[in-house]
Amino acid sequence: MEITYLSEIPSGEEAIITKVLGHGAFRKRITEMGFVKGKKVTVIKNAPLQDPVEYEIMGYKVSLRRSEAEMVEVVSVEEAKNLSGIEFNGVIDEETLKKSAIQKGKVINVALVGNPNCGKTTLFNYASGAHERVGNYSGVTVDAKEATMKKEGYTFRIVDLPGTYSITEYSPEELYVRKHITEKHPDIVINVVDASNLERNLFLTTQLIDMNIKVVIALNMYDELEDKGAKFNYTALGEMIGIPFIPTVASKGKGIDELFAKLIEVYEEQDPTVRHIHVNYGLSIEKAINDIQHEIWKNPAIRVQLSSRFVAIKLLETDKTMLEWLRKFDNYENIKVVAEKAIATLEKEYGERSETIITDAKYGFIDGALKETYRQAKADKRKTKRELDDILTHRFWGFPIFFFFMWLMFQATFTLGSYPMDWIDAGVGALSEWLQSIMPAGPVRDLVIDGIIGGCGGVIVFLPNILILFFFISLMEDTGYMARASFIMDKLMHKIGLHGKSFIPLVMGFGCNVPAIMATRTLDNRKDRILTMIITPFMSCSARLPVYVLLISAIFPENQGLVLFSIYIIGIFLAIVTALIMKKIAFAKKEVPFVMELPPYRIPTLRNTTIHMWHKGQQYLRKMGTVILFASILIWALGYFPRNVEYSQDYDAQIAAVEANTQLSNDTKAEQIQFYEVEKESERQEQSYIGRMGHAIEPIISPLGYDWKMGVSIITGLAAKEIVVSTMGILYQADMKADENSQTLQTKIKEQKHRTGVLNGQEVFTPLVSFGFMIFILIYFPCVAVIAAIKKEANWGWALFTMVYTTGIAWIMAFLVYQIGSLF
Ligand code: GDP
Ligand code: MG
Repeated sequence: MEITYLSEIPSGEEAIITKVLGHGAFRKRITEMGFVKGKKVTVIKNAPLQDPVEYEIMGYKVSLRRSEAEMVEVVSVEEAKNLSGIEFNGVIDEETLKKSAIQKGKVINVALVGNPNCGKTTLFNYASGAHERVGNYSGVTVDAKEATMKKEGYTFRIVDLPGTYSITEYSPEELYVRKHITEKHPDIVINVVDASNLERNLFLTTQLIDMNIKVVIALNMYDELEDKGAKFNYTALGEMIGIPFIPTVASKGKGIDELFAKLIEVYEEQDPTVRHIHVNYGLSIEKAINDIQHEIWKNPAIRVQLSSRFVAIKLLETDKTMLEWLRKFDNYENIKVVAEKAIATLEKEYGERSETIITDAKYGFIDGALKETYRQAKADKRKTKRELDDILTHRFWGFPIFFFFMWLMFQATFTLGSYPMDWIDAGVGALSEWLQSIMPAGPVRDLVIDGIIGGCGGVIVFLPNILILFFFISLMEDTGYMARASFIMDKLMHKIGLHGKSFIPLVMGFGCNVPAIMATRTLDNRKDRILTMIITPFMSCSARLPVYVLLISAIFPENQGLVLFSIYIIGIFLAIVTALIMKKIAFAKKEVPFVMELPPYRIPTLRNTTIHMWHKGQQYLRKMGTVILFASILIWALGYFPRNVEYSQDYDAQIAAVEANTQLSNDTKAEQIQFYEVEKESERQEQSYIGRMGHAIEPIISPLGYDWKMGVSIITGLAAKEIVVSTMGILYQADMKADENSQTLQTKIKEQKHRTGVLNGQEVFTPLVSFGFMIFILIYFPCVAVIAAIKKEANWGWALFTMVYTTGIAWIMAFLVYQIGSLF
């Protein structure tokens, strides 16, 4: 039967679509335009050199690129006539056309793809009744056998392709298979998989997944798997990877009927298992793929032929055939440049060829897939690599080992971090003292010392902690342990409607929520991504730590560890509750199972892990240099101006009076002068712009027991939570301007008293208020950078939602702590 393509139909004629060829993304796009099997298309204008061509479908005019129209199979009027054998009388009625289309649409092109000796030819022979040679030899000539057979009203054209372990470009067989799939566009590929050697055979499957084509797996040699006594839940794996598995024993003809029934079901798009998944290659590679894809998308003609993801992956594998193929497109040079850059970055990061990195990731995918679905017979000895895996992902021991690593990480972060922290602290102190001595007094000196150094210095001291935390997280990722950790957490995470995969972003959230939110990209479905993003802000990031450290050391010197721990736990608890509620109301959808990649264990190199740490730390430093610097200056200015305020009393006169008083000792004099100066400064500050802002929100925060300065800190913390402490530094420090024996912020906080309201005269930072304040800081508005990240990864709606609900919960929680606590 001749095949007619839509591109060949002349102007003015009609045709009925029989099938749309090509990879999944292309088919999806074209079907969304209305080009669906059985629909009538009228060609408006199609001249030989015209591109695009104009069509009318379902009453709409659309234009298709010629290359797109070449992928649409149709029944033309001409053909319908031949098929129906009726006399041509000028017009052919639509009914006849439709009938011919249905008949022609029942031809299914199938290609057999698989490793050598997995039983392709045996299957081919059995199904088609042919007698091709089977046996344990590699083909000398590279060619394909084709056979046609009828089953259940469908005509199958089956092609037996040469056996390959992979679809790269290293052998003529591989190139042949690849060409067949990308140029002949079989409707379905039967991936014949040797069930007795799953790990190796599934490697090819991952490549078919990348190509985004319709695949059915014939799980051949199933008899051998059963003989070995292994257990394989292929249905579960099929659901995870979106490809149906049919067990077969080709040599005995078992399972062949089921296989063909499945082919029909998949061809008619009635199989619920079929869906396109992405093998997750890890953040760095995924980013590289994405960068290349963006360049590919600039030329839509490329996407007609191949899935852009497949092209990008091939380029990252430094595939010459792909590069050559792209040469005919006008953005070839640009794509090449982007790809080369991406490869260079990856290779520098991993210290390995990019091709190897991708191969490893594929095996990680297979490992993870089989870990959940495949049980080897007891007698089988495993490799040492496996033994380590068995302990680390052990149903019982996995948890204590994991918690030990977590404890080690946090412990190291704080103990190791305290040394460089002290050095930086001393350095910052020395710097401001030195500047104090060389700069002339005035607003500029105040700006530099109180504004810039006071603000940024208070934040930069935490840099070592953050880098150490990131170092540990990167180390766990690089060794491959993080993937195991998510694996063992999977069951627990399922209880709150998430997957083990969400666990990595959540742990990263303890470092900084921004990279954590970006890490949600590794999750395959949007529902999981958004849910994870929403609860990530409850993971107390390192920026909030300074607030806790300040208040805990000042107010809770006895139970430091316990209080700190309780705050983190409250965060985690709220995350769980939020996830549970969100699962009920917004994400009550059926879960789709998926593979959790288990990348190979690696000995990480210091260089490698340092680079990864640095990638994450960079964001923190960038925030330092921009948001925090800007905010520090702004806050300082808002607190510094206006300079001329009207005081309630004439402080200067009172100070002069004290000085003139000869009856007082020098000590008493100094004390009294200091008292008036402090009074004056706090009154001035209260009337500064920021003071007025703080007072303005007093009605909202006074039920929480806060003074206006805490209110200001909360406002400024919107930019970044580190600024909460720097603001407190600036606001409370300024109070004590006259104090010569410079006290620490801790002592100053302890001495704070309310100056107005019902609490006038009472201490501000009672244990209750301090605890409530820490809870508030933990929960409310994460920070501008996080909101921007959520907006980027999800949308404005979720970003707004996060702003509102976090702040709402923060207020309620702090209110409850304060009001209930006050009862006792
Ligand atoms: P090809 O290289 O993929 O075409 O594999 P062949 O069809 O040539 O088969 C290789 C060998 O495996 C032959 O000896 C077949 O008889 C044998 N074989 C094929 N299918 C099965 C099966 O399901 N079970 C068993 N036990 N052997 C099979
Ligand atoms: Mg063969």
